[in-house]
Amino acid sequence: MHRDKIYSILKDVFGYSSFRGSQEEIIETVLARQDALVIMPTGGGKSICYQIPALVTQGLGIVVSPLIALMDDQVAALKQMGVAAAAVHSNTMDSQQVYADIEADKLDILYVSPEKILSAGFINYLKEKEIALFAVDEAHCVSVWGNDFRPDYVKLSILKAEFPETPIIALTATADSTTQDDIITQLKLDVKKKYISSFERTNIKTIARSGLKRKEQILSFLRTRQEESGILYCLSRKSTEQLAGILKGQGYKAEAYHAGLDAATRRNVQLAFQNDDLQVVCATIAFGMGIDKPNIRWVIHYNMPKTIESYYQEIGRAGRDGQEAETLLFYSWGDYVNLKRFIDEGGAEASFKKVQSAKLERMWQFATAISCRTNVVLNYFGEYRNTTCDHCDNCLNPPEVFDGTRYAQMILSAVLRTGEAVGINILIDILRGGYTQEVKVNQYNLIKTFGVGREIPFLDWKHYITQCINQGIVRIDFADNSRLKITPLSNAILKEGKAVELARFVPEERKKKLAKIALDVTDADSNLVATLRSWRKTKAAELGVPAYVVFNDKALLQIATLKPRSDTALLSVDGIGKVKLAQYGPAILGMVDES
Ligand code: ADP
Repeated sequence: MHRDKIYSILKDVFGYSSFRGSQEEIIETVLARQDALVIMPTGGGKSICYQIPALVTQGLGIVVSPLIALMDDQVAALKQMGVAAAAVHSNTMDSQQVYADIEADKLDILYVSPEKILSAGFINYLKEKEIALFAVDEAHCVSVWGNDFRPDYVKLSILKAEFPETPIIALTATADSTTQDDIITQLKLDVKKKYISSFERTNIKTIARSGLKRKEQILSFLRTRQEESGILYCLSRKSTEQLAGILKGQGYKAEAYHAGLDAATRRNVQLAFQNDDLQVVCATIAFGMGIDKPNIRWVIHYNMPKTIESYYQEIGRAGRDGQEAETLLFYSWGDYVNLKRFIDEGGAEASFKKVQSAKLERMWQFATAISCRTNVVLNYFGEYRNTTCDHCDNCLNPPEVFDGTRYAQMILSAVLRTGEAVGINILIDILRGGYTQEVKVNQYNLIKTFGVGREIPFLDWKHYITQCINQGIVRIDFADNSRLKITPLSNAILKEGKAVELARFVPEERKKKLAKIALDVTDADSNLVATLRSWRKTKAAELGVPAYVVFNDKALLQIATLKPRSDTALLSVDGIGKVKLAQYGPAILGMVDES
């Protein structure tokens, strides 16, 4: 009986025809009045795990969430689907109405801030009501082991004490196993099973490229993404402003965001981005917490982040609506050296510096990896696997591996013959037989390896040397002006002819192929997409809600692809349930007809 009911709510209210992953099992658990711990990546679909049980069960579903903006958007989105939802927190204006609705049993879901639920009398007030469930969102905040501990959250243990019979569902996207156990302990949950989804974000295409000419690369990337929202992360405040300037000069709606700007400017940038009035934010990592824009289509890292954790969290802001998104990481030795210097020159304890350096090392290995990148990330987070992902550049365009022993020998020989005294660029000049100032002054043109690698372009050499560094065949000595030095592994290659495998460097072909994949994502009628987008914008402004609350990008693209011409056809679009059909159906069918 439950089953029919939850499926009809899934279809009629949310407009979806099937559950994802363990959603259904989680819903059944809560409906059996058991506690649940849900670890699911961002965009994985946590919300319906508590929204559907709240709708099925008699009584009020209470959702505790620390992010006020997010709460309001969720309420707006639910109302759009015809669900009786409301929020109470420090900024709510019409709480009187909310309480009147609760008294009249008119409300199904109530979002509450932690401060509010813990405020005097609120728990007692709730005890007089019938409560269907408590959902604790961002549950990692209860644990000092999580990365966003909030002391108030710990006091939520009162929920179990005061409502021992009411199921509690705790949800988060970020919790390692220590944090998971701590959530259970702190909230006094009685869980039979943890629901842990894979951290893989299958809708995010992961690309990493050498950072040469990154500005040109960014402009070419954006040319095919004129309408799409994205974040461009930079290491320095100066670069955010410089890049925003360049993009504005090219006609993009772009702004900088960093901690040095005043609060009002920052708020305006965030709001404009949220409302689709701003396309690109060029930001430092200060732009992070609280961004819950589901239709961020791309994230670019202008500089390499210092850990895989930060990187994954930052790219995780893309594609929250579950639709295709792309992320592009630029890396260079320059970034590596800068980050290493921050760590070495920082005032932290030696043991902490050691951990930071090791994390930076792993980030570098990720950036320069020639096998599945998703595996590198998942293994890093302890989710061991070695299948391929099919949504990273290395899986989509596997690099061609060749016998690079001769190249490695040329590199090592040049390193030795220069007395380990040069960095990458001069070494390449020597290999390519370039008479640069540095070469002439030091008479490097007289050594035996001068010009032996003339036929290989500069960029290719750079790539091969990087691979040799990653394989430990040669090392870069940051303490000595980034000079190249030999390692304990060098000898076997130089003297014993031990084989070295290298991945062929083919930037142009790879770029073209990836660009094609990106464009193939949709067969949608682009004129209809534009019409729908502008209609959505007007509608959202009329209602005072963000555009995606009216329809998300996925629904919009599906409409422009399938071109539904009847109510039944419209209902097959993801995200269109009965209420949205009644409200917007005629307008959409009209636009499809005219397309
Ligand atoms: P989370 O809270 O885990 O970040 P959400 O609950 O906001 O994720 O869901 C992310 C997106 O996926 C939303 O657009 C949501 O409507 C969509 N979604 C959730 N469950 C399903 C499903 N079963 N089928 C299709 N789309 C879904």
